[in-house]
Amino acid sequence: MRQPLIVGNWKLNGTGGVAEKLASDVRDGLDQENVGVAICVPYVYFSDIGKLLEGSVLELGSQNVADQNSGAYTGEISAEMLKEYGCKYAIVGHSERRQFYGDTNESVAARYCQAIEQGIVPIFCVGETLEEREQEQTFKVIDEQMAAVVELAGIESFNQAVIAYEPVWAIGTGKTATPEQAQEVHQYIRNYLSGMSPDVAEKVQILYGGSVKPGNAESLFSMPDIDGALIGGASLIADDFLKIYHAA
Ligand code: PEP
Repeated sequence: MRQPLIVGNWKLNGTGGVAEKLASDVRDGLDQENVGVAICVPYVYFSDIGKLLEGSVLELGSQNVADQNSGAYTGEISAEMLKEYGCKYAIVGHSERRQFYGDTNESVAARYCQAIEQGIVPIFCVGETLEEREQEQTFKVIDEQMAAVVELAGIESFNQAVIAYEPVWAIGTGKTATPEQAQEVHQYIRNYLSGMSPDVAEKVQILYGGSVKPGNAESLFSMPDIDGALIGGASLIADDFLKIYHAA
């Protein structure tokens, strides 16, 4: 039985005291024993928010991780540094990183490996654009994104990883995949892994991301292969985030 996991991705938000208030409001609303929960906050808040989360079940996560361990890589943050600040999770391959900052399947795989090596759980994002969906390329895109990581990190690495299916056309657009559309791809991903290791495939958590809101969370979570959510916009409102958490 896979435990549900709810993860907030704050992106580039949270200045002016908002971050600490949001983190403590979320922390104070958690009351379920069997639901994992994390917030991926901007790096500069790790220290203050990390202190707020001490002793709480709310875990800290980052929104990215470097594809190298150390060296001349201006602007990057290593998995080792994330570990030092108590991060349990790191998002890798978010579509905004792929779209705006040049992440490729290969660099995402390298970031994923860095996280695994430091014992940080990568939240590995996959998903197709609208154009790719319309051209019926969804499964091909997923295959390529998955294959890059399997080749570099190996199938067993998914014992320490989380996958997030995030159709690019549903992120921040208000358009959610229907539960059936999401389930179809989640099942595809699980079958893909099952071809290499049924055991790994059965255990890995596959989150859905793309305009998850309190009003659509329950129907998404009722699908057999949807194990939780990666949430952008709705994670910035404590009440909405907590409603989604309770739906899980
Ligand atoms: C995301 O950024 O991962 C995301 C799913 O965003 P939103 O919930 O706003 O669509």
